[in-house]
Amino acid sequence: MKPAAEIAGAGIAGLTAGLALAQKGWRVRVHEQDSRLRSAAESVHLWENGLRVLDALGVLAPAIADAIPVIRHERRNPDGRTFSSSHFGPQFRLYAPLHADLLRVLHDALIDTGGQVVFDSRVIAAAPEGWLYLADGSSLRADLIVGADGTGSAIRDGLGLLKRRRATNQFGYQTVISRNPGLCEADEDCTHCEYWSGARRVLYAPATATLASVQLTSLAADNSGNAVPIDRQSWRELFPNLSWIIDRIPDDCHGAWFEIVRPEYWSIGRVAIIGDAATAQPPFLGHGAGCSMMAAFALVQTIDRTDDLIEGLAEWELRERPFTDWVQWIACRYARLAFLPAEARTVVLKGIDASRWAQRRILFAAASRDVTAMRRYSPAYPRNGSIIYPLIH
Ligand SMILES: Cc1cc2nc3c(=O)[nH]c(=O)nc-3n(C[C@H](O)[C@H](O)[C@H](O)COP(=O)(O)OP(=O)(O)OC[C@H]3O[C@@H](n4cnc5c(N)ncnc54)[C@H](O)[C@@H]3O)c2cc1C
Repeated sequence: MKPAAEIAGAGIAGLTAGLALAQKGWRVRVHEQDSRLRSAAESVHLWENGLRVLDALGVLAPAIADAIPVIRHERRNPDGRTFSSSHFGPQFRLYAPLHADLLRVLHDALIDTGGQVVFDSRVIAAAPEGWLYLADGSSLRADLIVGADGTGSAIRDGLGLLKRRRATNQFGYQTVISRNPGLCEADEDCTHCEYWSGARRVLYAPATATLASVQLTSLAADNSGNAVPIDRQSWRELFPNLSWIIDRIPDDCHGAWFEIVRPEYWSIGRVAIIGDAATAQPPFLGHGAGCSMMAAFALVQTIDRTDDLIEGLAEWELRERPFTDWVQWIACRYARLAFLPAEARTVVLKGIDASRWAQRRILFAAASRDVTAMRRYSPAYPRNGSIIYPLIH
């Protein structure tokens, strides 16, 4: 009899875990509280690490079918002048496909592999012995339960796994706008541009041939910066050269307050937590989705190679968590740059871009992780990642 997994949440983490398990021969059922997959008009930055996972799962080509590669990163003043930059070599690919496209590709591949996604199915709790409890009163037994139910994870909190969940006092809009090369400067067509003005940041990146990804971030105390719907006038005043971006942002674009989640453990008994439920981080470096996919993929590879599932889950955390904690720590420190005076921030950012060591350890740390390298799961490979990435906090 095939082992069975019940997964809470049909986001990037839940669908990646579901597909990886189904490809290993598991019976997989994903429960999504909403009546459909998330369809907000926004894109998600996927670095090399996430792209490798998609490739290993056989879905990279459809996931980035409409996306165009970003070839360099530039930091700019509000007047548009570049003050530092970095280039992405072929070993650090970056794409910003639509979030909805990525979910659809993962979902369709899961269904094609024999998995099931149940919509309007809200999970309320789980038990370490392998029980999943639904809001309709039913309970389901499985060999593995995965809590991929996002930042507010009911599974994590019900099992007492939460160590810390705190707001970063920062807000972000995430959306896509139409690209019109006639109006954009040529270099913006393939450049990931990070504009700073005071504590506000505008991130622009090409997504597809016709759409660009835009993220606007501001501090909690900046009421006009985080107004919903967006206060265009205040953004135009701070970024006078970017009205071609700001004017195209839809009124109903998605906004979110950023949070950091740190659990006690990634698993208890037969229940594992992944994605934002376990590692939510401010999205300043765009590593949330990549970390979610890496954790999901590594979980499946690790338990596939161990006879005892509970030991496999412990080994997965031992190997993967120190690195993920490091990436989360970097993302939090990077987010704190918004609180610095502009001059000090510029010095730090120039310093990062000027140092190959800092780039490797900060900007490209997550991108360079390859959880699809199968030697990583051999018994001879160092098991305890904390030797390389000491536990941060
Ligand atoms: C503004 C913003 C911009 C971002 N930009 C990037 C980026 O560019 N690159 C990047 O890598 N990351 C980015 N991130 C982070 C990234 O989106 C997340 O890390 C990633 O989507 C996490 O996926 P997830 O599946 O863990 O969680 P989610 O996407 O939150 O999915 C959880 C799913 O579980 C469902 N669910 C919740 N509770 C229940 C329940 N009780 N029962 C059943 N279902 C439930 C939800 O409806 C949802 O579908 C950004 C985040 C924000 C807020």
